[in-house]
Amino acid sequence: MQDNFSRRINYLRIAITDRCNLRCRYCMPATGVPLKGHDDILRLEEIVTLARAAVRIGINRIRLTGGEPLVRKNVVTLVRELAKLPTLKEISLTTNGTFLAGLAAALKEAGLSRVNISLDTLQKDRYRYITRRGNIGSVWQGIRAALAVGLTPVKINVVVARGFNDDEILDFARLAMEEPLHIRFIELMPIGAAATSAGGYVPMGEIKSRIEAFYPLEPLTDLATNGPAVNFRVAGGRGSIGFIGAMSEHFCSRCNRLRLTADGKLRPCLYWDGEIDIKGPLRAGATEKELASIFARAVSLKPAEHHMETGWRQARVMSQIGG
Ligand code: SAM
Repeated sequence: MQDNFSRRINYLRIAITDRCNLRCRYCMPATGVPLKGHDDILRLEEIVTLARAAVRIGINRIRLTGGEPLVRKNVVTLVRELAKLPTLKEISLTTNGTFLAGLAAALKEAGLSRVNISLDTLQKDRYRYITRRGNIGSVWQGIRAALAVGLTPVKINVVVARGFNDDEILDFARLAMEEPLHIRFIELMPIGAAATSAGGYVPMGEIKSRIEAFYPLEPLTDLATNGPAVNFRVAGGRGSIGFIGAMSEHFCSRCNRLRLTADGKLRPCLYWDGEIDIKGPLRAGATEKELASIFARAVSLKPAEHHMETGWRQARVMSQIGG
């Protein structure tokens, strides 16, 4: 389905929980964020029903996210049910990777195509500091398991913040040389805790030129991607590197997505508080066709672009939107 700006919308990100086992400093406060009650969160069979309606308007790729999607019980069953949807080309997952080692094989067998794993540092103590509680060893076990079972390409999401982890940019680039991993550098966005703390933002151009001073980058077009990243092969390396300049480079003209929050709201844009309730109609007995028309309405409401640079701040943090 095309939106009002001739963008083809075929990608749905579904937050399957608003709970997370980590408390990343730029994302949320130490105490976490207020969580929705059990009844407010979409049940797994409701998520499948909504996905079936979404497929009707041309959604053919689904990404599960959260919160931390792997803290949700029966996530493997959910993937298996989603994989039965005709015309769905891909189911992917964004995770912090801490529970992935034990689930990777089952997720692959259920029909998951690939994973993005969030990892902002390669240093054990810094990982615990940034996440306030995480163990980097468990993330590496998850990465190894994902590679072993073929949840590929395995993409590593690195949010870069000045004075936080920007001294590791070259370490991550070296990782892309040595391992068959796709490292994606992501600009810090003014969302969640990062919206109120001053500074931190490092423009993508600076990250790229710091890498290019050491590692020649060749433009890449064949990487399975459907999003905002601009991708490169590291000459002579096993992996690749992508850049997501949410702030410095408006990628909105390439936006192909809708978001469904864990509490059943459709979001036409990450950075806009406009939401459409779809859980209400679903629970009131709307037919699949009626639900599909709500998806279509969300597509028609997609703004031309986000306005992160204006200073306006939205209410939800990434973990509540489905980052
Ligand atoms: N728990 C999963 C994970 O860690 O990947 C999925 C949810 S998490 C909110 C999704 C992504 O949002 C993570 O890669 C995280 O680093 C990113 N994120 C959170 N706040 C952000 C911000 N202010 N700017 C940029 N990325 C952010």
